[in-house]
Amino acid sequence: MRQKPNPLFRMMCANLLLMTAVARFNLAVMRTIEFDTRQVTQPDVALMPDGKTLIFTMLGHLFRLPVEGGSAEQLTFGPCYDTDPAISPDGGRVAFVSDRDGSEGNIFILDLGSKQVSLLTKEARAGRPAWSPDGKTIVYKRFEPHNPGSTRAVVCRIPLAGGEAETISSPLRFFGSPFYLPDGRLAWSFSERDSKTSRWTTCVEAVNQQGLASTLAAFEGSADRVLPCPSGDGFYFRRRGASPMGLQPDEIVFLSIPDGKERMILPANGTTGTTRPVFAVAPDGKCLYFGQSGRLWKVLLPAGARLPIPMEAHVKLEVESVTPPPAAMLSGSSVAPRWIMTPRLTPDGKTLIFGAAGFLWRQQLEGGQAERISSGDVYEDGPSISPDGGRLAYIRLQGILSSLVVLDFKIRQTRSVASGGYYSEPGWSSDGGKLVFGEFGSTGNHISVISLADGKKEQFANVELARMGLWSPRPHLTVDGRWLYYTADTSGKGEFYRLPLKEKGKAEMVTGFSRHVSDGQVSPDGKWLAFRRNKEIWIAPLGRLPVTDDQTRQLSVEGGDSFAFTSDSSALIFSAGSHVWRQPVTGGERRQIPVRLELPRPTPKPLLLRGVRVLNFESGGFGSPTTMFIEQGRISWIGSESGRNIPSDAEAVDCAGKLVIPGLFDFHVHAGGANHASLIAYGVTSARDVGGSITGFNALKDRSESGAGPIPRYFFSGEIFEGENPTWGDGFLQIYDEPDAREYVRRFKEWGADFIKIYPALPWPLQHAVADEAHRLGLPVAAHAFTVEGITKSVTWGCTTLEHGDSEQEFDDVLQMLSQSGTRWVPTLAVDGADALLLRDEPERLSDPKFRAFTPEGNIQEALFGSYMRSVDDTTLRGSVMSLLARVGEAHRRGVKLNAGTDPSNPECFFGPSLHWELARFVQAGLTPLEVLRMATEESAAAVGAADLGTLAPGKIADIVLLSADPLADIHNTEAIWRVIKGGWLFDPDKLRAQSPPAEAKK
Ligand SMILES: [Zn+2]
Repeated sequence: MRQKPNPLFRMMCANLLLMTAVARFNLAVMRTIEFDTRQVTQPDVALMPDGKTLIFTMLGHLFRLPVEGGSAEQLTFGPCYDTDPAISPDGGRVAFVSDRDGSEGNIFILDLGSKQVSLLTKEARAGRPAWSPDGKTIVYKRFEPHNPGSTRAVVCRIPLAGGEAETISSPLRFFGSPFYLPDGRLAWSFSERDSKTSRWTTCVEAVNQQGLASTLAAFEGSADRVLPCPSGDGFYFRRRGASPMGLQPDEIVFLSIPDGKERMILPANGTTGTTRPVFAVAPDGKCLYFGQSGRLWKVLLPAGARLPIPMEAHVKLEVESVTPPPAAMLSGSSVAPRWIMTPRLTPDGKTLIFGAAGFLWRQQLEGGQAERISSGDVYEDGPSISPDGGRLAYIRLQGILSSLVVLDFKIRQTRSVASGGYYSEPGWSSDGGKLVFGEFGSTGNHISVISLADGKKEQFANVELARMGLWSPRPHLTVDGRWLYYTADTSGKGEFYRLPLKEKGKAEMVTGFSRHVSDGQVSPDGKWLAFRRNKEIWIAPLGRLPVTDDQTRQLSVEGGDSFAFTSDSSALIFSAGSHVWRQPVTGGERRQIPVRLELPRPTPKPLLLRGVRVLNFESGGFGSPTTMFIEQGRISWIGSESGRNIPSDAEAVDCAGKLVIPGLFDFHVHAGGANHASLIAYGVTSARDVGGSITGFNALKDRSESGAGPIPRYFFSGEIFEGENPTWGDGFLQIYDEPDAREYVRRFKEWGADFIKIYPALPWPLQHAVADEAHRLGLPVAAHAFTVEGITKSVTWGCTTLEHGDSEQEFDDVLQMLSQSGTRWVPTLAVDGADALLLRDEPERLSDPKFRAFTPEGNIQEALFGSYMRSVDDTTLRGSVMSLLARVGEAHRRGVKLNAGTDPSNPECFFGPSLHWELARFVQAGLTPLEVLRMATEESAAAVGAADLGTLAPGKIADIVLLSADPLADIHNTEAIWRVIKGGWLFDPDKLRAQSPPAEAKK
C-alpha cells in the first residue's frame, strides 16, 4: 500500500483524448491497493473462441483465466470501471465497456497482444458490445443518457477501422443483448411490459441486411443476456426474478427454437442492479460458464450440474484516499438562528412572520424583537397569512400527531381544522373562507379544500397526482376563485399546473421547461410565476402559456429555499441562510429585512449520578459502582465523591445497580419527520441523517441547542444529490450538469452539511464530480451502493461510507477492497430485510406499549401492509438475511469498518427500536456485544468527527444511557433503558412516553 499523487484517469489513458476529463478533476491523492483473493463478486464471463480461456471481470477490471481454473492474470488497470467483455472472433482483442474517458460508459478495445487499450465509441452511455463474425464491426447499445436507472436504448453499429456509428434500431426500447447468430445474421432481444397487466415479455428478432427484423422467439418474463446456442437451434437467456427487491432468484433457461419449449438450466441468484452479469456458452455447446456466490462455475449442459472453477488472483486497484471527517461542530456559541424559514409579510407590510428553530415567530418591521406566535413544545411550519391579515394557517406537529390549524390574531385562539394526516403548506381563498392544502396519509395523496365555516372537506379528485407523495404541491387559488394552481410530477418531470374550478375541468400544464419546477406560486395579481428549483428561486412573467425557459430568470444569487409574494405582488420575500430578503419582481435592488431574534442557550443543572457502573472500552467491561458528576453538559469526573467540591444546585440521582454506556448512534436515518423523542427514549442521542432538508436540519440544530427538548444530535447531509430522473421527487436535489454538481457541494458546505450523500439516480460522471468537489472541500461523501459497480466506483472515488448491503454483493474481493481502502460499510440490515424478518418472527414487538407510544399508527400499518418484502416468502427472506449477516461477519473478520444504521422512515424501520434490533443482528453476525457497543458509540462518533462523544471520560460531552441490565451479557439488554442523558439534560423514557398523545388520539 503506498500513497502517491497521481492525476485521476492517468493510467492506461495516455493514448486517448482525455485532456478535458483530466483538466476537470483535481489532482486527487491516489493510492494503490493490492491483495490476493479466491473469490469474485458477480463477474461478467466471456470465453475465447477456442473454448480454452475465460475473460472475466472483477472489481471493474478484466482478468484472464484458463477454463480449468488456476491463477488469473489482471489485464486492465487504473481508477476506472471496466465491464461487459466480448472477445473478437480471432481471439486477439476484447471489446469492453469502461468509464475511463469520463463518460457514463463507452466501448473500448483491448489488444491482448500489446495490452493497449483504445476508445471505440463516443457516446454519452454505451454498452453490450458484440463482434460481427468478420471481426470488422461491433454492434452495441446506445442508452438514453442521464438516466442511470434506465435500460432503454437503441442498437448501433460501428466499424473498428474508424468511422461514425450508425443507428440500426429505433425507437428506444428495453433491449437485452444484441448478438450474432451462428449463421451470421444479427439478432437482438428486447423486453416489453404490458401496461395493463404489468407482465413482461421478451422477443428475440433476427435482422436482415436491409435492417428488417423478424421474430425468432418470444417468451414470458424480462430477459437479460440472451445468447445463441452454437448449433443454432435455440437460445440461452437469464430471466429476471419476480421480486422487486431482487430476492427471488433469476433463472438461466434454454429456449428451443423448433418447438418453442423452455428448459430451466439452473437458478441464478438475483441481483439488485439494472443489468445482469454476462455468461458464456462453450463452442461445443457442452457447458456454460458463469459467476455466482463469489465464484466462477462451469455448468454442464443440458443437465445443469455445476462445478466450481478454482481461481486465485492478485488484484491491483487505484483508488482515491478517503476524506476523513472534519471536526464536528457540536454546539453553536451564537444565539442567532442558523436558518430563517418560510418568511411571510402581512398584507399591511408591517409584520414579518417566519420560522426559526422549528417555531413560528412574528416581528414588527419598524422595531422590537421577534416573538413566538404560539407556545409549547410543538413543531410549526408552513405559515400562510389570510388575505385580510387577521389569521394565520399553519401546520403543527406534536409528538406523533400532525394537524392543520388556524390562529386568529385578534382573539389569540388557535383551532385545528384537519388532523391525522400529514399536511403541506396551505393557501387561502381570497374571501378567507377556504383553505387548500396537500394532504398525505393512509387514504393516499390529495389536494384538499376545507370550508372554515362548516368544516366540510373535499378532495380535488380530477387532479392527477401520480407522484405527489414525492412532490410538494403547494396548492393555491386565484383571487377570482376560478383556478387552482399546484405543482406536480405526473410526466417524469416536475411542472406547474392549473385546474379550472368548474364541472369536469381538466388540469393543464402552465410550464414547459427543460428542467423541473418545485413550489410554483402565482402572484396575487396573476402576472408572475415564481418557483423553486433545488435551492434557487426563479421568476417568470405569466402571459402566454406554456411559460418557457427563455422567459425565466434566477432571482436569488446565493440560493434560497422558501419564498412568498407580497400582497401587492410587487416583490418576493425569501430567505437564504439566516438572512431574509425583499426582492422587487421587476428586478432592481433587493433589500434585507433584519431579523431580531436571539435564541436562548440554557444550561442543564449539575447531575450527580451515584452508584453507577461505567463501561470502559479499554478494560472491556463495566467498572465497580462509583459516582459520575456532570456539569455544564459534560462529564466532569468519575470516582469517589470524597474531597470533591459539589455545587449545592447539583441534582443527586440514585443509580444503584445501573450500568452506564455512551449514548448510541444510529448511523443511517431520514429523520426530517421523525418523532425525535422516540430516539432519545431509546437511548439514541446521536443520529446521522443521510438525506433530508438542509434547512430543516439547521432549524432542528437551532432547536436542539436552544432548549432542553428530547432531540438527538444530528449529523446531516441535507438533500441527497440526485439526477434529472430522481428516485425520490423534489425532496432532494436534481443535479443536471457538472457546474451544478460542484456549486451545490460548495453551497452545502457553507450551509452546514456534515457530509454529502449521492444517489444512483445521479449519472456516474456527476457522482464523480460531486465526490471530487467534496474531496477538495474536505467533506466526506456517503454513497448509496446497491451494486458491485456502485461499491467499486464509490471506493475508487474515495467515498467515506457505503450505505446498504445485499447478500450477493459482498464477497472476499469486495470485502478486501473495503478493508484496504478504509471505506466504511453501513449495511442497514434493518431496511434490507432484517426488521421485516424480525417482525414476522416476533410480531408482538408491534404491540409493545413503549413502541406504540412513540410510533405513529401509519408506520405500524405500513409495517403490516406496506413492507418492501411483502412479496418475498419466509424462507427466501430468512435465507437472504442470514446470507447478509454472514457477509457482515466476514467483513468484520477482514477488518472492514462497520457502522450500525437502520434507515427509518422506510417501512419496518423505526426511530429508536430498530437500532437495538440492528445491534442484536450484528451480534448474530459474529461480533461480540462489546464490539457492537463500541461500533455504535466510540467508532460512530469518530466516523463523524465528534471526538467529544462516544466514550465515558472526564471532559467528554455527557451523552449517556443508563441501563438496568448488562448488555455485555446479552445485547438485547441495550433495550433495558432506565434514563437517558443528552448534553447533561436528563430524560426519563417513561415521562417522555406520558407526554406522547394517548393511543386513541392516533387513529
Ligand atoms: Zn436511507
